[in-house]
Amino acid sequence: MIAPEEALAIIQKQISTLDTEQVPLAEAQGRILRENCIADIDLPPFARATMDGYAVRSEDVTNANAKLEIIGMIAAGSHLEKPVQRGQAAKIMTGAPLPDGADAVQKVEVTESSGDTVVIHEPIAKGKNVTPAGSEASKGQTVITNGTRITAAEIAVLATFGYSKVTVGRRPRVAVMATGTELVDVTEKPGVAQIRNSNNLAVAAYAADVGASVTDFGRVVDDEELLTDKLSAALDNCDALIISGGVSMGDYDLVKICLKRLGAEFFFEKVALRPGKPLVFAKLGYTFIFGLPGNPVSTSVTFNLFVRSALLQMMGASDTTLPTVKAFLLDKIKPTKERRSYLPGNLSYTNGRVEAAELKWGGSSDLVGFRSADCLIIAPAGADPLKPGDLVDVVLLER
Ligand code: AMP
Ligand code: MG
Repeated sequence: MIAPEEALAIIQKQISTLDTEQVPLAEAQGRILRENCIADIDLPPFARATMDGYAVRSEDVTNANAKLEIIGMIAAGSHLEKPVQRGQAAKIMTGAPLPDGADAVQKVEVTESSGDTVVIHEPIAKGKNVTPAGSEASKGQTVITNGTRITAAEIAVLATFGYSKVTVGRRPRVAVMATGTELVDVTEKPGVAQIRNSNNLAVAAYAADVGASVTDFGRVVDDEELLTDKLSAALDNCDALIISGGVSMGDYDLVKICLKRLGAEFFFEKVALRPGKPLVFAKLGYTFIFGLPGNPVSTSVTFNLFVRSALLQMMGASDTTLPTVKAFLLDKIKPTKERRSYLPGNLSYTNGRVEAAELKWGGSSDLVGFRSADCLIIAPAGADPLKPGDLVDVVLLER
């Protein structure tokens, strides 16, 4: 049995980054940027008015009620050819370029105009209500680095610098399959001793959230021949195979036996965590294989802690693990001797303190309870009992 961080380090060492492709920016959401985004222009490209008002020379408006001659009007998208000279002002709209000579914009609310004269009621300092050219980004600057996940905020930046197409990591092709004679399809009503196969759709959804392209290979009964056949079909032409169930110590836990029969190379078979100890990481050809324990909460936890990172690494992400924060514990927790616990919990913010409460859950099969978790509370292996007020590490789940 190896420690969770050791398991993650092995995954990180084994996984290699997949190739790239170009996609239209409108389709890049959730993908990993595989080039630096470089500013092709200064931003703003010109000194820009941030208010509707009058572009003035601040030295003319050091006192209240300065009276100035209006020499023109500048709407966003237009510019004034002539400079603003001593005693002059130009009417200007938000987003328009400041004319030469002017160095500040006084907002229209504190002005009064009549004909081509304006009275500026309040004095103004140089630079006021103007965003200087190049102050947000300068031409040639790297504004987003290779390896960044593209969200709406990145799309805004990429768009502004003309990236109508972006180079991103190819989506990993992921095959998902479930094992268990007790499983029936979601369309069926479970009979005696049967349960619906919820893991395939859950794992597929988690993998799709990360950006993978998923093929669902359905379920297979616990039979060595059938499982071996199904595994070799699923292993054909994918970057990662995610199997759930059949990896623990029961008589019908046949996944490892079948994978060995097929010639897979194993990197680990057990990780010291709770839930999720029987976690398998192997490889056959170029396909990485993740055997996750079948209990739905164990499946979700191991996906989020390990498989998610592997898929993000394949896509070239520089940040592949879920964020961890510190929180004050609200409950008592009894750590396990040999395994680190990742207990489903909820975070709250009370009087400026981040607090974590363990979920009332019924163990690793309780997918209904797990649904409302927003974090995993870490209890170190072999630690003294944790008590309310203790500071603990908490992994934030993506919701
Ligand atoms: P296993 O890891 O195969 O020993 O399964 C552990 C528990 O998880 C058993 O109670 C299974 O019925 C349940 N389980 C396994 N696979 C699935 C699945 N695909 N969907 C829902 N529950 C499952
Ligand atoms: Mg099973």
